[in-house]
Order: sequence, then structure tokens, then C-alpha cells
Amino acid sequence: MSRVPRLHIQGSFAGGDVTLDADTAHRLRNVLRQGPGDAVQLFNAESGEFAATLVELSKSRGVARLDTRLREPGRDTGPWLVAAAIKRAPLDTLVEKAVELGVSEIHPIVTERTNVERVNVARLDAIAVSASEQCERIDPPPIAAPVTLREKLANWPRDRRILLCAEAGTSIPLVQALAGLDFAAPWAIMVGPEGGFAPAELEMLAAHPLVTGVGLGPTILRADTAALAALAAFQLASPRARQAPRAF
Ligand code: SAH
Repeated sequence: MSRVPRLHIQGSFAGGDVTLDADTAHRLRNVLRQGPGDAVQLFNAESGEFAATLVELSKSRGVARLDTRLREPGRDTGPWLVAAAIKRAPLDTLVEKAVELGVSEIHPIVTERTNVERVNVARLDAIAVSASEQCERIDPPPIAAPVTLREKLANWPRDRRILLCAEAGTSIPLVQALAGLDFAAPWAIMVGPEGGFAPAELEMLAAHPLVTGVGLGPTILRADTAALAALAAFQLASPRARQAPRAF
């Protein structure tokens, strides 16, 4: 039996009937081949997740009747990913995998050697929503507007520590940094661009009180590989990893 479709929809809902916009109606009707009477699950971070039944589905809109609440509202407390913008395809994949690996926010940054002009935040938002639907999260992580590394640090939250994936300079193995880490505190994982951080950037970061430089082994990983390796290690070392996935 194919699983009941999970759809992220905007707005706050807690019961009764929910109106579905034209895009959602189109997706349900023409892509998922659903119709009135079929079951769906509707969710977002501020409302939680509900089992629902489609009561109306036309070309321009749909209506779903909320049944039981399946999940309470809430947002993941995973790390932020602060990643230098990289080429479109690997960045799309990185966003999708970062959502699966529990990031709470994604912050694209521009560094000295970043070689992409612009980041399509709307496209990355859609990828984050789609990944959340697939991996059974209720809270697609927001994608921040790209800013320079300096601007990001100039407005950085005072309580959020940074694990800087440093391909050069002083660093400790990531696994050593994770041993005994306070996972309840706010964290960020930072990764450079394909061309790496500039020496001046690494020096500036090394001097930052909230930054711990970490190594990811003896090879030079591609930026997206490095980000995924670090996020996977973080998630698997954290108490969250002890939560079992769904029951059969
Ligand atoms: N082209 C550069 C390396 C860039 S790797 C060079 O040859 O020096 C892209 C990013 O991935 C780096 O900025 C760093 O954040 C991360 N990274 C890659 N390999 C790493 C490693 N072994 N340890 C820590 N971070 C690494």
C-alpha cells in the first residue's frame, strides 16, 4: 500500500476544514491522482501534522477535513548549516540531504573564493519543503538570503557555537569535538566553497571566540561532501540519533 501523501501547506490550522491552494490541488489531483474521500496528511511547523480527508478537489482549489492530530507543532533544534554557495546541482543536493540530516536553518554565505553569482533561495525553499515531506519532518528549515562571511559573523547570535570544517590550519578531528559536545546548545556547521577558505578568512575564523576548527580526515573533500560528512557525524553522535524511525 502506498503511503498516505504528506503535504506541507501554509497557514495555521487546528481542526475543521482546510482550504488547499491551486498548486496543492493540482499536485493532489494530477500528480498524486487523489480525489474526494482519499486520505492525506497535512503539516507545518506552527500547526503540527494532521490526518485529513479530501472533501473537495477541483482544478483551482481543494478542501480537506482534518481528522486526528498526528504530531504536535514544533521546530527541530538541529544545527544551522552555514555553507559557502556552490554550483547549482551540488547545492540542491546539499540542501535536500541537510534537511534529511536534521539542520534547523540553512545559511548560504559568499566568501572570497565563492564562484557563483546568485543563489535561487525560492528553489532551495521548495527543495527543503519536498525533502521535509519525504523524510517525515514537519518543519522545512528556512533558507537565509546569502550574505558575505563577514556580514554573517557581524550579525552572529552570541550563543551559537560554530564547528568550522577547516581544510587547513589548526583543527581537531570532528569526532573528537563531538565527544562530550553539549548537543542541547545551539550549534552551526560551517563549510567553505569549492576553492576553499582564503587564508585571511581562516585566520579571522580561527580568532573568533565561538569557532572550533574541525578536521574531516586526510583527504580534501568537495564542499558538499564535507558538509554532508559533518552533518551526518553530528546527527549520529547526537541524542536525536537514538530516536527510532517510524514503527512498521
Ligand atoms: N580546493 C581547496 C579545498 C576546498 S574543500 C584546496 O584544494 O585547498 C571545500 C571545503 O570543504 C573546505 O573549505 C572545508 O570547509 C571543507 N573540507 C574539505 N576537506 C576537509 C577536511 N579534510 N577537513 C575539514 N574540512 C574540509
